[in-house]
Amino acid sequence: MSYLLEDNKLFSGFSVLSEDGNIIAAQPADDGPFIENVEILDKLGTEPELVETAAPEGPRIMVVQRLASGLNQSNAYFLGELRGEEFRKIIEENLPPYSSAYIVDNKGSLKVRPVPEPTSDIPTNELIRLLKSNVKSLSYTGVSGETAIGTSFPIEHLSWNLIVETSRKQAFTPLSTFRNQLTAMTILLASLLLIPAIYLARTIIIPLEELSRTSRRIRRGEAGLEIPVRAGGELGELVSAFNSMSLSLKQSMEEIQAINSQLRVMTVTDPLTGMYNRRYIVDHLDRELKQSKRTNQPLSIIMADLDNFKNYNDRFGHIAGDEALKELGGLLAYSIRETDVVARYGGEEFLIFLNHTDKAGAIKAAEKLRLAVGERIFDLRGEKTRITISLGVSSSPEDGTSFDELVEAADKALYDAKDKGRNRVSAADPNGSTP
Ligand code: GH3
Ligand code: MG
Ligand code: MG
Repeated sequence: MSYLLEDNKLFSGFSVLSEDGNIIAAQPADDGPFIENVEILDKLGTEPELVETAAPEGPRIMVVQRLASGLNQSNAYFLGELRGEEFRKIIEENLPPYSSAYIVDNKGSLKVRPVPEPTSDIPTNELIRLLKSNVKSLSYTGVSGETAIGTSFPIEHLSWNLIVETSRKQAFTPLSTFRNQLTAMTILLASLLLIPAIYLARTIIIPLEELSRTSRRIRRGEAGLEIPVRAGGELGELVSAFNSMSLSLKQSMEEIQAINSQLRVMTVTDPLTGMYNRRYIVDHLDRELKQSKRTNQPLSIIMADLDNFKNYNDRFGHIAGDEALKELGGLLAYSIRETDVVARYGGEEFLIFLNHTDKAGAIKAAEKLRLAVGERIFDLRGEKTRITISLGVSSSPEDGTSFDELVEAADKALYDAKDKGRNRVSAADPNGSTP
């Protein structure tokens, strides 16, 4: 038996028991395995069975084999006690990484202490759940003190279970590695696809959009818009070309606007005197007549014509005559109110428009003009001379409500002034007779 013991490291001792449980032979001789509860022996079949017995130092596991008995001979039993430490060794050698393992019975009582040494209590409640046949594995705080996934494996021939608890963190390590790989992959994707996309957007798409947006704004009349040059290469050149085009467009537009306003001024200005011309006064008077009809405000016009001007031309020449016309224009403009308008109506004829003025007021204004001109000493080709004017006055509404009616009436009055000897003011008579 001692030979048997030396050869089987799994066993800590062997005994042969009599039918009533007494040790017949044992190895080690003084500490051979035995079974206190002999009823267990009675229930044994012919196959070897594993039996757990309680002992003061902890449970003991034994292999029990009924020995073949001869006829009429009483039963005998062979006991081999398994070494708990050997179990731990086997467990240790086969332990999966980041795991603890131990053995419990079907009720969850500890049979083989955890490998490696536990740092936390045996989770009894979870074990009971785990040992229920329908639960294969559970997540709980294991004997290592960490959250673990516990799995129970029933041990054949024994009503025991090997419990393996694998650290949850480590159990998912491949998963978290995969996740890390995914993160790395997303970073890679970002740097391989997103950053080039952003670069592309910055350098191509944005400038192109800006080009089209800015062209639309320019088309709507906003001049001189520029786009920041973000891109290099051909696109950058395109944007620069666009900017210089936009700038020269702005310059051209400004030039055109300047020319336009010049043209507008020219169309209403008399080139010799710089006064408003006939075209302007026709339009202006037309507008004011409409307005005066609405507001029932009077307005008047004065037609002024130089007296015997032909003679001046003949005497001093046309150029001196022109100078005299210019000076006279300035004098007339100077002598009227700010709200009045004077224009050169014809060769040496001037039309003065007096807003909100009735005939009596207009006659006074005409007289003032006549005196101002008469008092002026003109210097024509070095010769001091005086010039006189005759003036015809007409007023709306009494002499007419249209431009033509009013001008005709003023003309008539002017002829009347000429007829009466010139250098005088004559007003239109609404009754047809001359004053
Ligand atoms: P009256 O007193 O009847 O008006 O005599 P008048 O010589 O002024 O006669 P009328 O008004 O009919 O003749 C106009 C003259 O004015 C003809 C021309 O010699 C002169 N004249 C007209 N326009 C100009 C001009 O632009 N420059 C110059 N220098 N003379 C002009
Ligand atoms: Mg004339
Ligand atoms: Mg004249």
